[in-house]
Amino acid sequence: MIGPVSYWAQLKEDEKKVIQNALSEIPVKVGKLARDLGLEVKAASLRPGISGELRRSDSTKSGFIIRVNRHERKYRQRFTIAHEIAHYLLHRHHIGQNGIVDDLLYRSSLSDAREAQANRLAADLLMPNFQLKKALEDSLTSNKQQLVSDFATAFDVSEAAMRIKLQNRMS
Ligand SMILES: [Zn+2]
Repeated sequence: MIGPVSYWAQLKEDEKKVIQNALSEIPVKVGKLARDLGLEVKAASLRPGISGELRRSDSTKSGFIIRVNRHERKYRQRFTIAHEIAHYLLHRHHIGQNGIVDDLLYRSSLSDAREAQANRLAADLLMPNFQLKKALEDSLTSNKQQLVSDFATAFDVSEAAMRIKLQNRMS
């Protein structure tokens, strides 16, 4: 279980297994997770202002390929890959022939509600609740900024992403 989340029930059994396996170790290898789900990931020179795409493809097992803007920062690319994986898992039946294109704010032709879902699942994939719990138990610091900084490094995410995740988790 990656979180107390309703979307978990939507996933297929084999997908859950692949995800559980990927999340058993941090930092989560999102590129490998994508490939294990039958997706291909390509770092590409996307237009400025475009972070990622989920396109249809005849050459992958899943029928989809993720393209991530290689000019963006590494943390950002990891989050984008997780976000597109989330779209694939949750929204692939709502994606048209042209696929979807996410801008810098992760807005696409999908609804804002679906974008919010994808962001939530992306955060849960990169920062699984059970891994955070373990890290909190093992942490020696009570300094909040130090914690955010240490965890961002351990999970290979930005401090901003970690701060938001920890706030959501505590609330
Ligand atoms: Zn999106």
